[in-house]
Amino acid sequence: MARFIFITGGVVSSLGKGLASAALGALLQARGYSVRLRKLDPYLNVDPGTMSPFEHGEVFVTDDGAETDLDLGHYERFTGVAARHTDSVSSGRIYSTVLEKERRGDYLGKTIQVIPHVTNEIKDFLSIGEDEVDFMLCEIGGTVGDIEGLPFFEAIRQFSQDKPRGQCIFMHLTLLPYIAASGELKTKPTQHSVKELRSIGIAPDVLVCRSEGPIPLKEREKLALFCNVRPDSVIAAQDLKSIYEAPLAYHKEGLDQAVLDAFGISPAPKPKLERWDDVSDRVFNPEGEVKVAIVGKYTQLEDAYKSIAEALTHGGMANRVKVKVEWVDAELFEKEDAAPHLEGFHAILVPGGFGERGTEGKIKAAQFARERKVPYLGICLGMQMAVIEAARNLANLGDAGSEEFDHEAGAKRFTPVVYHLKEWVQGNHKVRRKVDDNKGGTMRLGAYNAVLTEGSKVAEVYGQTAIEERHRHRYEVDIKYREQLEDCGLIFSGMSPDGRLPEIVEHKDHPWFIGVQFHPELKSKPFDPHPLFRDFVRAAKDVSRLV
Ligand code: GLN
Repeated sequence: MARFIFITGGVVSSLGKGLASAALGALLQARGYSVRLRKLDPYLNVDPGTMSPFEHGEVFVTDDGAETDLDLGHYERFTGVAARHTDSVSSGRIYSTVLEKERRGDYLGKTIQVIPHVTNEIKDFLSIGEDEVDFMLCEIGGTVGDIEGLPFFEAIRQFSQDKPRGQCIFMHLTLLPYIAASGELKTKPTQHSVKELRSIGIAPDVLVCRSEGPIPLKEREKLALFCNVRPDSVIAAQDLKSIYEAPLAYHKEGLDQAVLDAFGISPAPKPKLERWDDVSDRVFNPEGEVKVAIVGKYTQLEDAYKSIAEALTHGGMANRVKVKVEWVDAELFEKEDAAPHLEGFHAILVPGGFGERGTEGKIKAAQFARERKVPYLGICLGMQMAVIEAARNLANLGDAGSEEFDHEAGAKRFTPVVYHLKEWVQGNHKVRRKVDDNKGGTMRLGAYNAVLTEGSKVAEVYGQTAIEERHRHRYEVDIKYREQLEDCGLIFSGMSPDGRLPEIVEHKDHPWFIGVQFHPELKSKPFDPHPLFRDFVRAAKDVSRLV
């Protein structure tokens, strides 16, 4: 049965709990253990699928079609373990399950309460698949003391009591602010945060403290004394230049050792860290630099395209170059020439997105890349825009557009080269959708297979013709226009196995122009860069050498 590590946060949010959890997962793997990581989020949305990227950053999609928190992306990138829908839950999901059961009459006339009904539901969630791995790492979103978070804290407290002694530990992440005027690192906020945690019955075994610099021995001892943890279980988490330093940095600080000590595992198996040594070497010793423009809508918040930024970094690592990303707001050149905004980049990426705003700019970006022969990677909406660009400017369909924008505007203005998909095959059953369906969880979501055309650019990039990639979209390029577009040089080089849904397009007479209906960035890892990102950055590197 798995050992459980509960990761909580205090003092302030955004301290990098997800990253610390992911790095710890990687370190336990390096010691030969199997791990699974989970996120429990206190907000009331049933899942983050309906939240704006501005609010919550990117929505991470699992193979089995769940729309989850972006921390699951960190978990996958650091451990390589594919997340499942059972690895992410929110208060909203828990409450909606409890209320559904109540309506069904499952509680047999009882009064439904937070304790035990809500907490039991959370505990049931924690137990899913507990026999499958050595360690289950469960991160609680938010900070201790948040009202919505209380049922989760109560549930993990109970859960640790239900299990045999020594099977669960608690790791708490806090901030040590540095007061420049007095030159001091302050421990008081951490002491208060631990006090808060202990008042709800949870005593941390390991304290991870974010700080700008190292934690002097005096402060470490003070924290240990006042927070009732062992001095060697006070782990400094200093600011890092790259997130990919985290596993080695935490290892140097003794995090994995402290965790194994807390479980009483002795002697601890020796870690094999070669994978992370190699990753660090590639991050810190690039042999060149490429500049990539990401032309999007959610450019003010980098977290909105988290996995894309990381996948580009991985592509850089594979090619030993630093990828310098610049976020270009597509709306900037809706009405003016795109060239001044896009010249000087070695490659252009148009990411996924929803709604019409900014799309004319994205179409111009695709046109610029096609005409100037700049490497172009279009992801989901970025592929759809590349198709619309080709339809308008090469295939004489001047009013080509997406039904998505007509639906939004409530008017019919475009020839729907991209249309609303209402029926498709998933595994061996048919999925049906209507335009006015609920918004939550109703897209074409999760892993689907695609078949690549032998001899195409993309088949060469993948080195195979059968692939499986993750999807998250409602609209689809209409194969009705295939012949017309292929005659103009836009080849449909990847299709769904039934031949109905275009998965990949590429321009025949272009060094590197690929649009994909899926999200390859979700499967890229620093130690296993996604082939599309690896080759896209290679193409950018080729361009950088020419200029
Ligand atoms: N809005 C488009 C669709 O739903 C693209 C979605 C995306 O880019 N993820 O098809």
